[in-house]
Amino acid sequence: MFDLSPYNTFGLKVAAKEGRIIRKGSDLNNIDPAHSIILGRGSDVLLTADYDGMVLVNEIKSLRIIPDGDSFLVCAGGGNILDELIGRLVNAGLNGLENLSAIPGTVGAAPIQNVGAYGVEIGDFIEEVHARDLISGKELVFTREQCEFGYRTSYFKTHKERPLFITEVVFRLDRDFAPHLEYKGLADKEFQDALAVRSCVIELRRGKLPDPAVVGNAGSFFKNPVVDEKLVNLLRAEHPNMPVFTSDDGRYKLAAGWLIEKSGCRGITHGNAGTWEHQALVIVNRGHAKPHEIVALAKYIQAEVANTFGVSLEPEVRVFGRRGEITWDQV
Ligand code: NAP
Repeated sequence: MFDLSPYNTFGLKVAAKEGRIIRKGSDLNNIDPAHSIILGRGSDVLLTADYDGMVLVNEIKSLRIIPDGDSFLVCAGGGNILDELIGRLVNAGLNGLENLSAIPGTVGAAPIQNVGAYGVEIGDFIEEVHARDLISGKELVFTREQCEFGYRTSYFKTHKERPLFITEVVFRLDRDFAPHLEYKGLADKEFQDALAVRSCVIELRRGKLPDPAVVGNAGSFFKNPVVDEKLVNLLRAEHPNMPVFTSDDGRYKLAAGWLIEKSGCRGITHGNAGTWEHQALVIVNRGHAKPHEIVALAKYIQAEVANTFGVSLEPEVRVFGRRGEITWDQV
């Protein structure tokens, strides 16, 4: 068996029948896509059981920076650690990704859910995603448009029937410093450069979010729900202090962490699972948690929020079972 504890930031003791470390494209030869799943560092996944197949671990660490007109193309292997890459780029004076500092996980995993933080989404800076189709064996190039980036989603997340291994992500960055400082914690400060923004974001995240190396977790467990005007008006009448943000599609985004907290679920503990005291949106492993304890707590939170607000929360994490990726309803 191949131990998956180092490959899921929840730190759950689960295993796969086999594992293969992928360091270059040819390591992907002779893979049976029907019986394999791909993991980077497992920072956005919940593994609910031992996996009855092969886990492919992305360790492709290549990096090339190519000047292209007024900007630069950064071609980063999917196995690079996203935050290490951002640190290197910001130090080299290449700006844009600084608000995404300290997000755990790999470069290859980042486009799948279009990771976002502090008003910036990674898809905004992606020029191309290179992937190996594990069925045909072909190397594919997806333009930004073909990636179909949306709020915490992309083509790669919505087309799970197509097993794609992201080998490289190409970013377009430049030296202009055009900071996004709309969010609380950044909005009231002045910054000389992207390095200063990066330091501030790291500090903000450290204050609010548990370090997966110390307390097992997968970041935000649920997505922020996007709801229509009718429901927002009803909720606002009852909860005048409820945070509401306009969403890109003209609807309204609610803060899942706030809904969970006001449903009485901040800092609670069920078995060996709990919610983080400083950010209720993060489910944590309080030590030796079993997958079913994380699942039970998540379902309890969903029920409490639905009872309190009539809003349904959807997991942001991807969920895997004995035979591969599954939907939340199948858990
Ligand atoms: P926060 O400041 O407590 O805000 C709660 C939520 O309100 C956030 O999720 C954010 O939505 C939304 N929000 C706040 N200010 C906003 C604004 N000016 N415009 C639009 N939406 C706004 O959030 P936090 O927990 O400290 O997190 C800070 C940032 O890090 C957020 O962007 C959050 O998404 C990101 N983060 C992501 C993960 C992950 O696993 N994906 C984990 C932790 C934090 P958005 O989520 O849409 O930004």
